[in-house]
Amino acid sequence: VELSNQIAAGEVIERPASVVKELVENSIDAQATQVLITIQQAGLKLIEVNDNGKGISSDDVEVAFLPHTTSKIANDRDLFNIRTLGFRGEALASIASISKLMVLTSTDGKSAVRAKYSGNELVKKETFARSKGTTITVEDMFFNTPARLKYVKSLHTELNKIVDIVDRLAMGHPDISFRLINEGKDLVWTSGNDNLQQTIAGIYGRTIASHMLEFENSDPDYEIHGFFSKPDTTRSNRSYISLILNGRYIRNFQLTNAVIRGYGSKLMVARFPVAVIDIKMDPSLVDINVHPTKQEVRLSNEGHIGDLISDGIKQRLSDQNL
Ligand code: ADP
Ligand code: MG
Repeated sequence: VELSNQIAAGEVIERPASVVKELVENSIDAQATQVLITIQQAGLKLIEVNDNGKGISSDDVEVAFLPHTTSKIANDRDLFNIRTLGFRGEALASIASISKLMVLTSTDGKSAVRAKYSGNELVKKETFARSKGTTITVEDMFFNTPARLKYVKSLHTELNKIVDIVDRLAMGHPDISFRLINEGKDLVWTSGNDNLQQTIAGIYGRTIASHMLEFENSDPDYEIHGFFSKPDTTRSNRSYISLILNGRYIRNFQLTNAVIRGYGSKLMVARFPVAVIDIKMDPSLVDINVHPTKQEVRLSNEGHIGDLISDGIKQRLSDQNL
């Protein structure tokens, strides 16, 4: 069983950022409104995700860590919240198989259970106390699969990937407060009060967020709303242009270009804006032609959505005489 979990883990868990993603998505699924992520050594030493979600009942704790035998059905729809059978039930078992894992959880804020695993083996289960919610502590990732460590890049790179994941999840969920602390330092801290501009402040800082312009451009099929920097606040690459589709972070080349196009000739050569574009549309109009790892998503009518974005930005800039 352990071996098959490690094989499964190879597909899901390739680096600390994958653990952060799986754990934080579980917190979101559990209707948490606050998610605190604490890491050490870019997650290799420690990843702890603490939430105030609905918790796991004592009986379900062990079930949650059981590997599911169904083979993974790779399904691109996963990106759009139509939760797949694919990873269902596999993440926790996979993470437990390559780390020392502890879960402390309570469904009622009175009684709690604490369970410790080492490489998938339950080593201790006891009753405890805590407020409603779940804390999952993952220590010494890959301690029993040292070969896997070879594929882990520098701590700097791994940390950036974690920040990236948390940024994206936070942008897609302005109603949840996310806080990421690395070695005692706050890297991300969003308000969770359902305000996109304040969420952006928690990610890029107050100064950048407060100088951004807001725009809206919708039609009966698409609702576009977003924030973008003035042409004098730019970055040297496109990675500060974020697209959120129906609450999910996506990558899309054409829509990213549409943001840039909205500036016309106002950007300096090889400079790119900071922008967060929130797109809402009928989920059935989303093409599920997706690259699973790259999150590159195709949309029917991309050209039209791109026009709504670039026109909206252009209009807002000219309103401001910029
Ligand atoms: P999946 O999320 O696909 O169901 P996981 O292995 O990630 O599989 O999680 C297994 C189960 O453990 C979840 O279905 C959920 O019931 C429970 N669970 C995991 N994390 C949490 C959490 N933070 N809060 C509440 N329940 C959780
Ligand atoms: Mg999960």
